[in-house]
Amino acid sequence: MAAPAAKSHLAFFPFPSQGHVTPAFQLARLLHHCHGFDVTFVHTEHNRRRLLRARGPGALAGEPGFRFAAVPDGLPPSDEDAARDVAALLLSLPTMVPHFKELVLSELPAASCRRLLVSDVDPILRAAQEIGLPCVTFWTTSASSFMVMQQVRHLVARGLVPLKAEEWIPGQHGHRLGAGVAQGHARLRDFPTFIRTTDPDDAMLALTLRLTECYRTVPSAVVFHTFEELESQVISAMSDILPPIYAIGPLPLLLREAGGDHAASTSAGYSLSKEDRACLDWLDGKRPNSVVFASFGSLVKLTSEQLAELAWGLASSGYEFLWVIRSDQQATGAAGGTAAVLPPEFLAETEGRGCVTSWCPQEAVLRHGAVGAFLTHCGWNSMLESVCAGVPMLCWPFAADQQTNSRMACTEWRVGVELSEDPGREEVEAAIRQVMGGGRGEEMRSSAAEWKDKAALAARPGSSSWVNQERVVDEVLAPLM
Ligand code: UDP
Repeated sequence: MAAPAAKSHLAFFPFPSQGHVTPAFQLARLLHHCHGFDVTFVHTEHNRRRLLRARGPGALAGEPGFRFAAVPDGLPPSDEDAARDVAALLLSLPTMVPHFKELVLSELPAASCRRLLVSDVDPILRAAQEIGLPCVTFWTTSASSFMVMQQVRHLVARGLVPLKAEEWIPGQHGHRLGAGVAQGHARLRDFPTFIRTTDPDDAMLALTLRLTECYRTVPSAVVFHTFEELESQVISAMSDILPPIYAIGPLPLLLREAGGDHAASTSAGYSLSKEDRACLDWLDGKRPNSVVFASFGSLVKLTSEQLAELAWGLASSGYEFLWVIRSDQQATGAAGGTAAVLPPEFLAETEGRGCVTSWCPQEAVLRHGAVGAFLTHCGWNSMLESVCAGVPMLCWPFAADQQTNSRMACTEWRVGVELSEDPGREEVEAAIRQVMGGGRGEEMRSSAAEWKDKAALAARPGSSSWVNQERVVDEVLAPLM
């Protein structure tokens, strides 16, 4: 393997939400640890403040060859919720461009080091192109969702998107949109929510088109956080439409194999919220596969009605549960904007049977033997963590790529059951019983165990993801620098 020249420097600039920051940080550590790259990991000011609040100064202490930087993002210092609002985050991105350029020019001097940017933020990738900084995209969600997003321009060209009013039927599960799209099996429900618009000027649709165009044309390569065995068909189909692509994942397993997970294991540097580790002690007292774990990532907000239906579904299933309800989780339903509160009757009925927390060490929770099923919003990191742990899923996708991810888990990997778009308590209860119980539950547990083994194998030296992380260094990073 060609060793990178001394002082080769990677700047990482992930989209500033937890689901992007975590895998970017893990990839940065892997490349630093295994290949000796110097790294500057760029947070936004907002996230830097959150990290310091969550973990203290140690969160940004860095180490030789690995440092943190932050750029102003214009988000209000006091507003925790701004960081949960995808629209606010997207609007903040262009304001960071001049600060990013300044950072590159002042802190990564071209004369004394060779530099490369790794990012999934399109204004930042374009800015890098303008100043002659080579770049690579790191796509932190599934290759399949990326493929589906790439199809959007064809749907627009064929006049299928924006949708005609009569084509847009919320909750119509079997509805097909342009048979032949995305392997010929996509239902409207499986597409990213960005296309579900009848407005030709829809901002998220425009963003999808801009992003996918940027990824096709600006970076020298696209790295996907996945592994070849998990999304083989899509990965091979995508090689024709993109710059060179590399499937490198699951990153937590690669880091463990590389022995570079000492910081990752404590989530220093990337966990934007304070973790409640006591829930691991609570799990210690439970029987194997006996607990339902429910968590909806860092952005999704359930309405008060959805919270209540989920609560009663959990209660009447009879199973023990660990449930993450983030502190910012506000009810946005009929009551409008009031803090989420669980029904007192539910709390009384499930006393001693449930543990509710505001943020947990999720990867460790999923690896805990007591967890028997994961009720998830199908964020990609959550799904990969579940695959790595061999835990079957109850899939309740909300937005963005989550529908596509859910579809794969349920129909291709056969490790999950899909809930309808707005499930009631009876549906939640029945799905929990199905996954936790015998019959179909057994089948899913056995598929999940197989995928767990495949994930572990992919990360081993000599196997697909391991080889791909060596290839990306040899073929893309080292020659460009
Ligand atoms: N997460 C966590 N503790 C929690 C809830 C979530 O550590 O209590 C982590 C989870 O392990 C995952 C990330 O937050 O790595 C969420 O990313 P994902 O892609 O699943 O969803 P997103 O937040 O982007 O919707």
